[in-house]
Amino acid sequence: MNIREIRTRVVRWKGKTVSIAPHFCTNPMDLLPLSTASMSTFTFHYWLIVEIFTDDGHVGIGNAALAPQVSKQVIDLYLKPILIGADPWDTELLWQHMYRKTMAFGRKGIVMAAISAVDIALWDILGKSAKQPVYRLLGGRTKTRIPVYASRLYSDELNKLAEEARGYKDAGYKAMKLRFGWGPADGAAGVQRNVELVRTVRETVGSEIDVMADAYMGWTLDYAKRMLPLLEPFQLRWLEEPVIPDDIHGYAELKSYGRIPIAGGEHEFTQYGFRDLLAARAVDYIQFDTNRVGGITQARKITALAESHSIPVVPHAGQMHNYHVVMANLNSPIAEYFPVVDVEVGNELFWYIFDGEPKAKDGFIDLDDNIPGLGLTINEKNLAENFEVIE
Ligand SMILES: [Mg+2]
Repeated sequence: MNIREIRTRVVRWKGKTVSIAPHFCTNPMDLLPLSTASMSTFTFHYWLIVEIFTDDGHVGIGNAALAPQVSKQVIDLYLKPILIGADPWDTELLWQHMYRKTMAFGRKGIVMAAISAVDIALWDILGKSAKQPVYRLLGGRTKTRIPVYASRLYSDELNKLAEEARGYKDAGYKAMKLRFGWGPADGAAGVQRNVELVRTVRETVGSEIDVMADAYMGWTLDYAKRMLPLLEPFQLRWLEEPVIPDDIHGYAELKSYGRIPIAGGEHEFTQYGFRDLLAARAVDYIQFDTNRVGGITQARKITALAESHSIPVVPHAGQMHNYHVVMANLNSPIAEYFPVVDVEVGNELFWYIFDGEPKAKDGFIDLDDNIPGLGLTINEKNLAENFEVIE
């Protein structure tokens, strides 16, 4: 089996978007004196779809959501020449070739997102060729179903936040995650607003539901150390991305500073990045996203590394490329799940691009033993109606 063609398409949502409350989520730009809303940089209304076609008629599908226009260029210019004519079963050699060819300017960020999208498409082909779901190529089932946590609860008026949290509890979720709205620039008042968000969700759902909270890189070490003692009474399962990803020492300090488990890694890349996080004892949960970290070829190495450190892997974003990894990994107790909502920040866009993503029921998703590959198809009808193909 050989790779015959690769098609990369960047699509942009052109339908309506729902506007969201100011201060809906902290982010790294909050520290800057900007007049415009800083979160706009972190909304994702573009997506990259990658299709790899083989000479025997298989089509592997991968995707990337980090800077899709530039990821597309990386694939078209640098990765495609490696892949055309290659045997998709040589995933390890192909990964090493892509990684080493782009070493001088790659390693992390956009280039790794591009490599990830390709690698995911290759694994989809392997599953289809072997007539097996991908998780069966990775070790098979470690759970009858995958528990998922509802991931949204953007910072908002407290009554709206409570209503949303109650909705998840009623729908059967046993875990949910909220976003902090305030950071260092918002002073002592913002500290109190953050505490109110967590208190509202905890008091709404009671003590038998896991609650997590995400600062999305929007705090500093100093600020996180102010917040941690105030959050301790609410028994968070974890505090996510309290500082920027490069501040590994800050992570490690926070992990030993308080009693709230610290989670991170959705903006970290490859086994080398995670080796450093683990060696520094910087996180209690690892949250790589398979479509950023280097694809399934890297994800399986990092899960092995994490298991040997007794650090659970709970990938960012759910989606099929992560669910297959979670299913095959005993050390992944739960997965993230972005509920199906009208298009807002862009986290939910994949629901509109692909068919086959499992919908949560009673707080679980399942994968189908009888669907080969990753189980996704492209919803071309919706693409034509609601998206613009940029390039
Ligand atoms: Mg996150």
